[in-house]
Amino acid sequence: MQFLKGVGPVRAEMLGRMGIMTARDLLYHVPRRYDDASTVQPIAGLAVGNEVTAVGRVRSKGVISTRKGLRIFQTVIQDDSGMITCAWPGQPWLENKFQEGDLILVTGPVKFFHGRQLRPREFTVLARASDESPIKSHAGHIFVTYPASEEVPQWIIRGLFDKNLKVLLEDVSEEEYLTISEQSKLGLMTLKEALEALHTPALMETIEQARRRLAFDELFFLQLVQAQVRYKESVQTPGIVFKRTNKLIRPMHESLPFSLTEAQTQSLRDIYAYMESSRRMKCMLQGDVGSGKTIIAVFSMLLAVEGGFQAVLMAPTELLAEQHAERLAKLVKPLGLQVYLLTGRLKAAKRKEILVALKDGDARLIVGTHALIQEGVEFSDLGLVVVDEQQRFGVRQRMALGEREVQPDTLIMSATPIPRSLAMAMYGDLDLLILGELPPGRKPVDTLLRYPSERDDIYRFLESELKEGRQIYIVYPLVEYSDKVDLKSATEEYERLSNEVFPDRRVALIHGQLPSDDKDMVMRDFLAGEVDILVATTVIEVGIDVPNASVMVIEHAERFGLSQLHQLRGRVGRGPSKSYCILISEPSELAAERLKIFKKTSDGFKVAQADLRIRGQGDLFGSQQHGRDSILRFADLSKDEGLLLDAQTRARSLVESDPELNSKGVSSIRRLMDNRYIERLKLFSVG
Ligand code: ADP
Ligand code: MG
Repeated sequence: MQFLKGVGPVRAEMLGRMGIMTARDLLYHVPRRYDDASTVQPIAGLAVGNEVTAVGRVRSKGVISTRKGLRIFQTVIQDDSGMITCAWPGQPWLENKFQEGDLILVTGPVKFFHGRQLRPREFTVLARASDESPIKSHAGHIFVTYPASEEVPQWIIRGLFDKNLKVLLEDVSEEEYLTISEQSKLGLMTLKEALEALHTPALMETIEQARRRLAFDELFFLQLVQAQVRYKESVQTPGIVFKRTNKLIRPMHESLPFSLTEAQTQSLRDIYAYMESSRRMKCMLQGDVGSGKTIIAVFSMLLAVEGGFQAVLMAPTELLAEQHAERLAKLVKPLGLQVYLLTGRLKAAKRKEILVALKDGDARLIVGTHALIQEGVEFSDLGLVVVDEQQRFGVRQRMALGEREVQPDTLIMSATPIPRSLAMAMYGDLDLLILGELPPGRKPVDTLLRYPSERDDIYRFLESELKEGRQIYIVYPLVEYSDKVDLKSATEEYERLSNEVFPDRRVALIHGQLPSDDKDMVMRDFLAGEVDILVATTVIEVGIDVPNASVMVIEHAERFGLSQLHQLRGRVGRGPSKSYCILISEPSELAAERLKIFKKTSDGFKVAQADLRIRGQGDLFGSQQHGRDSILRFADLSKDEGLLLDAQTRARSLVESDPELNSKGVSSIRRLMDNRYIERLKLFSVG
């Protein structure tokens, strides 16, 4: 760092406190805004009532006080065309920030107050009066504003780039790993051009081009790490070659009460091909709630069994595992097959009996919870693992079943759809299958937006549904009372609903802080119809099928992400009766775009896409197990799907032709990856 011009030991330390430790950190210090000189107006022409951006030298400054005691910092700034007063009411401390002769950029409205007066919302010191390298003429220039600190202000950072950018960019050429023809095929700038444009863009449009190139880098290295994992665990790992006899698959087809959708047929065709091939299958099946993923799991398991192997279906909760086991048992009974269930609830004797059946190989079809991956569980010839409702398992857990001598094929099924780009970014080590179609005849759930003031009407409606014998969910965002925000906590509301609103109904409460046995019991009662109204936090999100539940009421709907709302909505509409999802929120929130989109959109992938666009990817990554979103500083998954696909394709083919990235032309890529990305990427994905 200290070899850079303008950086001594003291300043190096100050930069370090901002997270800028190396020359590379400085080069990747991304501007936080750009101001186009074409929007910078000559001061003489600034008109009252307009929002303006102006650049001028500070000619005078001072603090004045009004009669009421308000202190106002004022400067007069001047350019070639004229002068204007800038005023910051209530911010007298700004006086120390400016010196006469400083060149500053200000943005804000022009008011009429003793003549024209600019009220800056933002200001930037472009150059100090004392600065030995005065800024270039600002005509045709784009002003770059960096994240700065008290210790290292804007003009210092800008000065560092003025003095050092050329040198910093010289090293960049060595890091270029795209050939010219690749660059032109991908429509990307060189790395050097991109970084140069990031700091000194000639045109506003080049900033977006620079972003795309730097985004490609991030996505490419992310995919490269994942492609290596995929190669190790899938391509290179010898997989079981399942022999398809149709002994089980055909009768199952014939006994199904419905025919498979086109999307299901296609996904199954892909899965069979993966399973019949000599490489190990590791794929993820994405599908909306109700898209019929279970039957895909069933057919895949039958292929494994008819090929002579055991097949396992793993669910995130005991209740879900039991429900799966029950349904699977019914489906395969005509085939003369039995289903074995292993959960943590089993009595010791029963557990022992099952463990023996798994080990001896008597058990061919097995359903369970993570009890399946605990120590002491052995299989005789495990061939396929299906993981349902994936996001509930940690990365480590989903891998644990795979870490055996003979590596079983793995099919991971998502609980809720996420946009393709997000799935590719997060699960680039897996092959992605998408079920983009719902089985026919599904009745859409009516989504209603209601104000809190309409609650009495809502309760009357709920009562009428209860009279019809239906069951109801009422969901709250938090369990504990929070004194910061006035949210109704599920606990308090449960008291009110059961004592005051529905005193004659059976109301139960379920939330995340209940011991899991209690949760389980409440869900069982609800499933058995012994509870009319289930007051809940989002723990019911995953789960279980209660076809008799016809209404989902969501309080403080604005607090939930759209994908979460979609999950919740998917809990109803599973039976023959018309179903409703009622979102309760303040008028201002209901007016916002997001809930309106949600009301209009029943397709989970479209909901997820809107969620990604509105909330941003940081939030979505954050809600997953990986935490760090800073992995993607340039890439924007809501618009870079094409770029990501290019990055994935290139990364995968590179790894397949040179797994260790050893060959001459490629070793620089590996060095780059090791140096700059591996630490960040380790925190991310690919356990
Ligand atoms: P999910 O993808 O949410 O796990 P499920 O597998 O539970 O969905 O399927 C939802 C419902 O749709 C089940 O009752 C299932 O029997 C039914 N189903 C699945 N595939 C079809 C189909 N092709 N035609 C009609 N109904 C189907
Ligand atoms: Mg399911």
